[in-house]
Amino acid sequence: MKKFLTIVFALLLGCVGASAQMRPEYTEVWTPKPAVVTPGDPVTGGAPSDAIILFDGTDLDAWVSAKDGGEALWPIRDGILTVDKSAGDIHTRETFGSYQLHVEWCIPPMEERFSGQDRGNSGVYLQVGHYELQILDSYGNETYANGQAGSVYKQTAPLVNAMLPPGQWNVFDIIYNAPIFNEDGSFRLPPRVTVLHNGVVIQNDTVIYGTTRFLGLPDIVPHGDCRIGLQAHGDRSPAISFRNIWIRRL
Ligand code: MG
Repeated sequence: MKKFLTIVFALLLGCVGASAQMRPEYTEVWTPKPAVVTPGDPVTGGAPSDAIILFDGTDLDAWVSAKDGGEALWPIRDGILTVDKSAGDIHTRETFGSYQLHVEWCIPPMEERFSGQDRGNSGVYLQVGHYELQILDSYGNETYANGQAGSVYKQTAPLVNAMLPPGQWNVFDIIYNAPIFNEDGSFRLPPRVTVLHNGVVIQNDTVIYGTTRFLGLPDIVPHGDCRIGLQAHGDRSPAISFRNIWIRRL
């Protein structure tokens, strides 16, 4: 029996290891579901004196288009930045290693037919091309736990669900430690992230195992400092908005 189970496990590992046979659901974790916590009033704005202001409601000078490195073209109205899905992701002009990042984001009220990953999907690329901290409407919206708001996408679910309802501003305060690589390309120190969502710790020095892929297991890809990105996800739901984005290098 033991030998039989070993063979079955080896076969499963073989399947999972072969990306050609990978399916998205293989890396979805649905349980346990993070408990819902009602946050207090989140602290908004609040950039300290040594912060680099990435967006204060006036312009996108600190950002470029991910498509061509040219001007970032998401619209700004009344100090609020809204995703333009047709314009694609935007990236910071500067590159970063370890940092403290403050981002405010708002999911607009929308019809219930938008659900799961198709409801307010966006994200913060902690280092572009590698690691996504998920943004989604997770207020009463069912999806896999490691794909809800505040998850290290397809890896680690948030400790709790501190989401505010659509139409209200959510705050991420992110403390990110960039990885250090060995000469052979493996992690000497993997990337780690702590996240407060509306003042509630939802990731506590969480190890990031590698790239946050929709399909397949994490890859370890050596890199140096990278841009930070905001995701224009291809879902069909109404676009989400951002305001008050600032960063401090660590
Ligand atoms: Mg996303």
